[in-house]
Amino acid sequence: MRVVPSICTFCGVGCGLGLRVEDGRVIGVEPQPGHPVSQGQLCAKGWASSFAIDPHGRLTQPLIKEHGQFRPASWDEALDLVADGLRSALDERGPSGVGVISCARATNEDNYAAQKFARAVLKSNNIDHCARICHSPSVAGLSRTLGSGAMSNSIADIDQADLILVVGADVTENHAMIGARMLRAQARGATLVVVDPRKTRLARLADIHLQLRLGSNIALLNGLLQIILANGWENAAFLAERCADIAPLRRHLAALSLEQCSAQCGIGVAELERVAYLFSQAKAAFTAYGMGITQFQSGTNNVIALSNLVLACGQIGRPGTGINPLRGQNNVQGACDMGCLPNVYPGYQEASDPAVRAKFAAAWGTEVAQAPGLTSLGMMHAAQQGELRALLIMGEDPLQTDPDQNQVARAFAALDFLVVVELSLTATAQQADVVLPAAAFAEKDGTFTNCERRVQRIRQAIAPPGLARSDWQILGELAARLGYAGMAWRDAEALFAEITALTPSFSAMSYPALEAKHGLQWPCDAEHPRGSPILHRQRFPIGRARLLAVSQVDVDELPDAEYPFAFTTQRLHFHYGCGSMTRKSPLLERETPAGLLFIHPMDAAELGLAQHQGVRVRSRRGFLETRIELTDDLPRGTLSMPYHFIEAPCNRLTNDAQDPISKMPELKACAVALQPLPPGQAPSRAAGASEVTHASL
Ligand code: SF4
Repeated sequence: MRVVPSICTFCGVGCGLGLRVEDGRVIGVEPQPGHPVSQGQLCAKGWASSFAIDPHGRLTQPLIKEHGQFRPASWDEALDLVADGLRSALDERGPSGVGVISCARATNEDNYAAQKFARAVLKSNNIDHCARICHSPSVAGLSRTLGSGAMSNSIADIDQADLILVVGADVTENHAMIGARMLRAQARGATLVVVDPRKTRLARLADIHLQLRLGSNIALLNGLLQIILANGWENAAFLAERCADIAPLRRHLAALSLEQCSAQCGIGVAELERVAYLFSQAKAAFTAYGMGITQFQSGTNNVIALSNLVLACGQIGRPGTGINPLRGQNNVQGACDMGCLPNVYPGYQEASDPAVRAKFAAAWGTEVAQAPGLTSLGMMHAAQQGELRALLIMGEDPLQTDPDQNQVARAFAALDFLVVVELSLTATAQQADVVLPAAAFAEKDGTFTNCERRVQRIRQAIAPPGLARSDWQILGELAARLGYAGMAWRDAEALFAEITALTPSFSAMSYPALEAKHGLQWPCDAEHPRGSPILHRQRFPIGRARLLAVSQVDVDELPDAEYPFAFTTQRLHFHYGCGSMTRKSPLLERETPAGLLFIHPMDAAELGLAQHQGVRVRSRRGFLETRIELTDDLPRGTLSMPYHFIEAPCNRLTNDAQDPISKMPELKACAVALQPLPPGQAPSRAAGASEVTHASL
């Protein structure tokens, strides 16, 4: 047996693990000793990583759909067909008629290749990925206030904080090793404050839990800042030295009624005053947030309101402080950094800037995309309107994870051609015309970037199953068939060298440099050859930080007589994303029953519902059937579902009302109605759902 160092492929914490390899198979994993993030530990998902790449149930050869059925095909036949499909769409509609959805689970090298394929080969800026539905408001909001949308500090800074503020993040479930670190910090004396409409595990253990009303983040954050400014608790020196004029925000907040803020968020004035004092007077306050901030139609303004609070108190640019979006997927930071967004090239170089386009056109030796691109949800709308004709999806399952699934299904049905590059036959892959088998993280070389901007090496430990290949190799072959030879890299290291040559914030990185130090945090350039654990120490990328006035916006769909319950979504510790990887683990699968609708016991009693009774849940967009789970984690009148389960896909219910700035859909809030099924009647599985468990693959 040998142990190959790698990085956990689930969440954005980026824990170091070792893959135990025997007879060409990964037979288990172990924590990487001395790793700066995971410190020799893993969470339950990390320990189950080997199941995710088990060859059982993996795609091993290309599949072509004929008469509604898949048949195996050779790579040549499948790639020729894909090239024809893309070429036809280009001939019919031009670059706006094609799109690429890349993958926050794939490597930086794969993602760089995806955006290069879109821009240099298809000549289209229609390139996006699932950051659209997790942290696009962080990129939009923090870019406006600070000039950078990434975590400002490092995970290790939690150890130096004397106050930790967690807003809208279920950290022990979703970023378990960060949650554990926060609890250790609390045990040594740090004050832990959690803002969340649910009593999460961390909220129950916190010193203070502000259980705000769903979707009232801005009211709460504006209330806190109004108190701070009214009492002179702000950091005047920091504001004078590092920030643009706060006067407009001060006037905006002074005009608000504190009582109204309190009424809107459901937190008493005295409690707001207590937290405002503690946060502003802390020597070092570490602020972390998640999708309870971003997944609203006011997502960007929610981020700005939090940024205002942090800036006004000077809780940034020092050890133990900072504003820190907890990125969900293992490489969602990297997919953004690599330019898998319609508006930016790698390193956030603006696609609208002619100089940037000229730089990449010269480096790539070809014309690049000129017109602005569409977001992933924009592509779905364009498909339904007949404007987008062909779509390449790499490792994502929007049919299960995007809002309003019926709309996604209609978009797929309207396309002329859908190709999916995947590990297994997900719900989305089942809709494809061609499915191409991809290599998993243990089967290829490359890099992942965790939520603290740490670029880390992964290494090939085993061969891919059957004919599966790395995404970048597949895209390179397709590019060649479409007449572009500039994607035929020798190996992943050569591809990474192209990334560093064209991305200023990566310019001092190389595979040997990454290997020497458990990765490097960007910016890593001539000025910062050892990387940058803390951003904004002396200056912000935009010079002076901006504090911007924002106002509370209600959620798009409030409960009413027809749909009387507020509905939100959540994740569970033992599963990940659409479940296509974690549900292959019998150890994880046995921990949580599939489906589940969480409901307060008193709401259930009012409807005459018993524990685990079947219910039909209905929103304006669709319905599903599942079982209830009683919990007082939720306030009365609010229901919640995890989105890991294809049997009861909660995104049939969710609302795609969008944040006008980032185009983030309001996944965290809509209104639903509940109808009990007769006692003893089992919920019916969602139509079209097929098992994604290890048992059936
Ligand atoms: Fe993997 Fe995240 Fe768990 Fe670490 S915390 S082991 S990265 S799932």
